[in-house]
Amino acid sequence: MSGNETIVAISTPPGRGGIGIVRLSGPDARPLAARVLALNGRDLPHGRPRLAKVVAGEDARAIDEAMVTAFHAPRSYTGEDVVEIATHGSPVVLDTVVRAVLEAGRRGEFAVRLADPGEFTQRAFASGRLDLTQAEAVHDLIAARTVDQVRQAAGQLGGALSRRLAGPKDRLLHLIALLEAGMDFASGELDDVDVVPPAYIAEEIALSLGELGKLAASFAHGSLLRQGASLAFVGRPNAGKSSLFNCLLERERAIVTPIAGTTRDTVEESWAIHGVPLRLVDTAGLRDLSEDGAPADAVEALGIARSREALADADLVLLVHDASLPWTASELALAKELEHRPHLIVSNKSDVAMQDAAGPRDAVATSAVTGAGIVELRERILRELGAGTAPGDAAVLTTQRQFDAVQRALDALRQAAEANHAALPHEVLLVDLHHARAAVDSLTGQTTPDDILARIFSAFCIGK
Ligand code: GDP
Ligand code: ZN
Repeated sequence: MSGNETIVAISTPPGRGGIGIVRLSGPDARPLAARVLALNGRDLPHGRPRLAKVVAGEDARAIDEAMVTAFHAPRSYTGEDVVEIATHGSPVVLDTVVRAVLEAGRRGEFAVRLADPGEFTQRAFASGRLDLTQAEAVHDLIAARTVDQVRQAAGQLGGALSRRLAGPKDRLLHLIALLEAGMDFASGELDDVDVVPPAYIAEEIALSLGELGKLAASFAHGSLLRQGASLAFVGRPNAGKSSLFNCLLERERAIVTPIAGTTRDTVEESWAIHGVPLRLVDTAGLRDLSEDGAPADAVEALGIARSREALADADLVLLVHDASLPWTASELALAKELEHRPHLIVSNKSDVAMQDAAGPRDAVATSAVTGAGIVELRERILRELGAGTAPGDAAVLTTQRQFDAVQRALDALRQAAEANHAALPHEVLLVDLHHARAAVDSLTGQTTPDDILARIFSAFCIGK
């Protein structure tokens, strides 16, 4: 990444739209914009949109009119000079503008090139306009599928996570400074003076462990909110899987019919509970669970194969049992198989249920017909996925990278606590405390290796 090159990209999504935006960032953003706009020699003011003709192309004839906004460094998204040219959303116009800008570069007049994915945000990070958690939030905000995901990302973009880290970081720096000062002191005439009492050190480390531990615990909810989860419905044909699925979706999607085995293929549907995006997979009835021994036809066999796949991939499996029938041996076997992974046993058709002592005891009773037990089922789904521990504020860890960094800080702090307890020299303690501090710093990007930065920004789209 070079601060001397100006970058250009179409920042709006591909295809036709009402408006399309070409964005430039870098030292030559303004003179380059002047090459494709009829500005009559006037410079673009900061932050005030101006109407201008777009004159890019062979004969410099006007091809569109644009609203042009310049942001003068450092008061821009990237911290550099930025110009946004909003034309009509014609891919041809947008392309022509970008080509004309690049052509000026090819003629050697300017150092300009097409932006890499996420490069605008990467420059914002490099110039200190955003820290790394905020840059990650930009990506999450754009990728969000539910309003809760947007809220989470917006909070993080606003610095919620960074602020939450400020406390533990200050505490660490304070402790490090105290111990380092104490060592300087002890290395003079007055050695053997215990400047910082071990009990004080122990307490400070315990407080840091507590704060960072809470943050680490928020990852279960944060990653679920960010990534969502997949649910697979399995069970005998006619147990009510499709009906239950529709009930949860609150609209008709999978085909519901009274003939066994008609949900032939898997049906996928996206949906959210409390902002957690869920993919529901309604599997074909696992025909081999039926006791009639009828051979499955080719289509049905395919459906069964897909069911097994959906089952293998699912974060949570719902085994749906028809409560109007006794539990079969194969249903009980499947229930046993599921014990080793996140699952829920749903005893459907509670409206026409019979007594069967053989069934698993922790089943959720539902009726897709009367709606009984559906609210409880939703809650149980969330709890089973680990979303029950939603913290009150927006400062949650959402990415594995963030979680790993906090874990490293916690490990180092635990070692520091042990060293302190064992009355080891402060040099030893300081090594651990510096490790903890570096781990916390890597969260906001102060000490993040380039390859990790590259990975984060390459996940962005071009133009962001
Ligand atoms: P699937 O094969 O497991 O997907 O089952 P379906 O959802 O297609 O349902 C099979 C039949 O059972 C349909 O006639 C549904 O109307 C009926 N059914 C589903 N859920 C219930 C329920 O809770 N109570 C009653 N009485 N019937 C249900
Ligand atoms: Zn079905």
